[in-house]
Amino acid sequence: MSLDVHTILVMFAILAFLFSGLLALAGLHAGSIGSGVRQWALASLLISLGFLPAYFYSVPAPGYEWAVILGSTLVAAGLGLQFTGIQTFKEEPRHWGAAALFVCIVFFESLWFSVLHPDAGSRSIANSLLFGVSCAACARMLLIRIEPPLNTAYWFTGASFAALATLLIVRAFMIGFTPSGTYNLYTNTPLNSLSFFISASVQLCVTFGFVLMVNYRLIIDIQRIASRDMLTGAFTRRRLEEEATRLLARCARTGDVLAIMMIDVDHFKLINDHYGHPVGDEVLRRLAAIAQTTVRTDDYFARYGGEEFCVLLLSTTEQEALVLAERLREAYAAMILEMEGKTLKSTVSIGVADSTRTSLDWPTLVSAADQALYRAKQEGRNRVVLYANLSMPTSTIA
Ligand code: GH3
Ligand code: MG
Ligand code: MG
Repeated sequence: MSLDVHTILVMFAILAFLFSGLLALAGLHAGSIGSGVRQWALASLLISLGFLPAYFYSVPAPGYEWAVILGSTLVAAGLGLQFTGIQTFKEEPRHWGAAALFVCIVFFESLWFSVLHPDAGSRSIANSLLFGVSCAACARMLLIRIEPPLNTAYWFTGASFAALATLLIVRAFMIGFTPSGTYNLYTNTPLNSLSFFISASVQLCVTFGFVLMVNYRLIIDIQRIASRDMLTGAFTRRRLEEEATRLLARCARTGDVLAIMMIDVDHFKLINDHYGHPVGDEVLRRLAAIAQTTVRTDDYFARYGGEEFCVLLLSTTEQEALVLAERLREAYAAMILEMEGKTLKSTVSIGVADSTRTSLDWPTLVSAADQALYRAKQEGRNRVVLYANLSMPTSTIA
């Protein structure tokens, strides 16, 4: 296979130009992360423009040095923007100063070795090392521990940057071993053609990795919106039902028991009517905060709808859930909410059921807890009622 350096340089420039368009489109509707993606798009455009002068000045001709300086500086600006784009995407402080310093170093180093003390070999060694360090910095920011599925995209992109960094540093060493004065950027040596060919291919992987990062980040955002209630931060009913189905299937397999608490704010409509909806919302947020600290870390606390909440407690019987429910009821009743000079106290009623007294099916379990909750309301509110006690006469239930 024969790889012509000029053809590869033009191919690299065209590919980078297309990547830039692809990234610009990917960032168009990416919401808050769009700014990072637009920096990557601009980075690709600068890298693309950086390779073009090198092609047009293929034969060392008058003015060729300035084309090389311009090309190297544009590529450095592109690499700097990839770096700040990653920081923007990760919502971290951006190091614009470090990126600008990097571009200046590349500019003055290229000026030095192209015009002031012309030496193509030294210039290529310095550029390869500097570009390699920049790619290593990008790799370092991405090869970190992070939640799935984003880790797949981070590691893929990070590994691509690491491969690029290794390639550039190896290239610098190999140029260092060529006899002094014989190296030229445009000669069709295997070193030039292969290193440009491989770096063009890895740049494709980097771009693909950026698109993957955007895609996985949007998936995570959608999952978060679908599983968390905006007002209280509790799980949504949809997520609760998914978890309940999973846990009940596990109970069927292992013989384990699942308890459920249905929590309902007493006379909540009156709170809204007397204090207004914003205060009602704050009451719901406070209840959620108290419940989150009362239940255990592996319990599922969710907003079932309106002012009703639900807790799933695995490996817990009704009697054990009663202890937690009483603790939650008392903590909430002790809360005093002060809003605009007025004080407000509120209570909750809680119905508790477990899977040993119902079938292992979600609607039946919810209905059992609902019946217990209904009895708690009938009994005068601000109390916990167990489904197991429903057969008792109303007045004997505590
Ligand atoms: P009970 O003691 O029998 O439970 O009476 P209640 O007033 O709490 O029950 P009801 O079902 O009559 O009223 C529930 C109210 O909750 C009605 C609805 O406007 C209000 N609500 C539902 N969701 C929200 C919300 O997100 N914010 C606020 N502020 N109010 C809400
Ligand atoms: Mg209520
Ligand atoms: Mg209700």
